[in-house]
Amino acid sequence: MLLTLRHFFGGKRKREILPVKADNYFESIENGTNTIQYPKQKLPVPEVGRYQLEVEIDDCIVCDLCAKICPVDCIDIESIKATQAIGQTSDGSTKRLYAAKFDIDMAKCLYCGLCTVVCPTECITMTNQYDRTVYQLGDLTYHFSDMSPELVAEKKEEFDKQQAERLAAKQAALRSKEGGA
Ligand code: SF4
Ligand code: SF4
Repeated sequence: MLLTLRHFFGGKRKREILPVKADNYFESIENGTNTIQYPKQKLPVPEVGRYQLEVEIDDCIVCDLCAKICPVDCIDIESIKATQAIGQTSDGSTKRLYAAKFDIDMAKCLYCGLCTVVCPTECITMTNQYDRTVYQLGDLTYHFSDMSPELVAEKKEEFDKQQAERLAAKQAALRSKEGGA
């Protein structure tokens, strides 16, 4: 009751609006100002806060560990094997898989941070972004793959062709071995 009265009269006394980064901002809360002018003002977020996920796809080796550990299955990854190494991540890991699909449904995410802990290349991170208001629920599914459908089809075809060629070579070698025996 005392607290309520303090805020009631304090709020009436204190009408000055302080920027949220002002040194005495939190003192102003004590004096009765307990709202901020959102979205013009935003409370500072802690550095270790868990907010929207971001994926640096160039550094992803498509190992699927993040998807496997996610307790709510909100990470959906589809990989395509490359016919040869396709480059390196910034930490020197060799990339051998394409990320044909890398979607995260942030509407399901419970911000546990497990995916960021298991990632071997530290390319999936929690950002300080928390306000991404959307009109459609589906818009909370973020797409991180940078491959077009045409490129996905092309890479799949390349891999299938390589597999077919290897199989044909194996069968030819077997036949010639049998013929020579
Ligand atoms: S933070 Fe947790 S719930 Fe969200 S995507 Fe990562 S593992 Fe899944
Ligand atoms: S754990 Fe990291 S490297 Fe592996 S698929 Fe997820 S984001 Fe990519």
